[in-house]
Amino acid sequence: MINEKRKVVIIGTGFVGMSYAYAMLNQNACDEMVLIDIDKKRAMGEAMDLNHGLAFSGSNMNIYAGDYKDCSDADIAVICAGVAQKSGESRTDLLKRNTEVFKSIITPVVESGFSGIFLIATNPVDIMTRITQKLSGFDSSRVFGTGTTLDTARLRYLLGDYFNIDPRNVHAYVMGEHGDSEFVPWSQAMITTKPVLDICEHSDGRYCREEMEKLGIDVRDAAQKIIEAKKATYYGIGMSMTRITRAIFGNENSVLTVSAMLKGEYGQKDIYIGVPAVVNRNGVRDVVRLTLTKTELNQFAESCDKLRQLYDEINLQ
Ligand code: NAD
Repeated sequence: MINEKRKVVIIGTGFVGMSYAYAMLNQNACDEMVLIDIDKKRAMGEAMDLNHGLAFSGSNMNIYAGDYKDCSDADIAVICAGVAQKSGESRTDLLKRNTEVFKSIITPVVESGFSGIFLIATNPVDIMTRITQKLSGFDSSRVFGTGTTLDTARLRYLLGDYFNIDPRNVHAYVMGEHGDSEFVPWSQAMITTKPVLDICEHSDGRYCREEMEKLGIDVRDAAQKIIEAKKATYYGIGMSMTRITRAIFGNENSVLTVSAMLKGEYGQKDIYIGVPAVVNRNGVRDVVRLTLTKTELNQFAESCDKLRQLYDEINLQ
């Protein structure tokens, strides 16, 4: 840690940034919180609004709208800034515009002397995280994205409901791209230490793989459903980011499915993608190597190929 006090800078104070800020305040998860947005007035208003809740929060957090120079002694720079897709705009063109946004952010953060951890939430998160690592030149252990953390939380909730078990006793992961090619390695899903596939097999038809696979599809499509209903998703991701931040500040060595750089794990390298990884105060300590089946390894490889293709399309110099 750079600071005695836990200092976070949030860049992008829209729905996601502020849901994260609000969760951080309520969980008293840092001591100093700086808000930065291209819309300075918005960042100022958000800081005022949060400060007015301090008296009820049990925290004496220092919250203010700041500038990139405030990153110099920050522990974590969290990026949730981005532009929305214009009507008729292709995914690649949107990605190119978001790459420009990231250039305008990463350069001044690095120039401030920042030497902490980058945590990325902006979509497509696996690509934006890779861009951040490339632009910053930081060691990949100190640059990671939210990946499939939220998807994994959604899966554990749905499996807990299906088996009528506390989600905290459900050990299962969503892996791959945070998006359409994500998948659940069912061979690795457990209730306590019992594989869910064994539970299904010995349940006399009460539980079955097909039903579980439907839950996996529900997880994959959850964001789209929420967007249809209320235009954007933000509380769940804000809480996921707070969970990741707590793992960093608490030096927890917690396993979370963040978007981490692979260096040969699962037969892949030089790519950021959602994998279970050990997170502590130095960032990503290790990627956990699960024993995936051949089919699951193929699903993972397909997801990697898709992300590689997307990254190549932006032709980042
Ligand atoms: P939003 O439009 O509400 O907020 C984006 C903010 O970024 C705005 O305040 C805007 O002013 C700011 N911004 C734009 N360009 C900037 C720049 N150059 N410098 C600084 N600030 C800039 O959007 P949102 O709903 O908060 O979503 C933000 C991002 O989070 C999107 O990319 C969204 O897809 C993503 N998201 C990710 C997950 C996940 O699981 N990783 C979940 C939900 C949303």
